[in-house]
Amino acid sequence: MSRRTDRVQRKVKIPSSIRKKGKSKKVEKPGETPCCIANCDGFADKHMGGRSLSQENGVETWGEGGFVVRKNRVRVCKSCYKVWKKDNKEDKSTQY
Ligand SMILES: [Zn+2]
Repeated sequence: MSRRTDRVQRKVKIPSSIRKKGKSKKVEKPGETPCCIANCDGFADKHMGGRSLSQENGVETWGEGGFVVRKNRVRVCKSCYKVWKKDNKEDKSTQY
């Protein structure tokens, strides 16, 4: 006789009240990673559409000193990323 239990088959719903045990950091902050671009006070958090660019990318668009480098990356908010993208998409859109 085999006494294999196929308990992987069914997904048991766990009440969220149990799941939230232990350390419960508040994740309700609107943003915690400030945009690295000077004069911009947006947030570069991932859930807010922020991106991280390389330093070279940042220099091309904003120039040296126009942004802050954090751990070799330039964190930009959504709108700044759009600016950068616009600045760098010339090879993609060739229509005029
Ligand atoms: Zn920004």
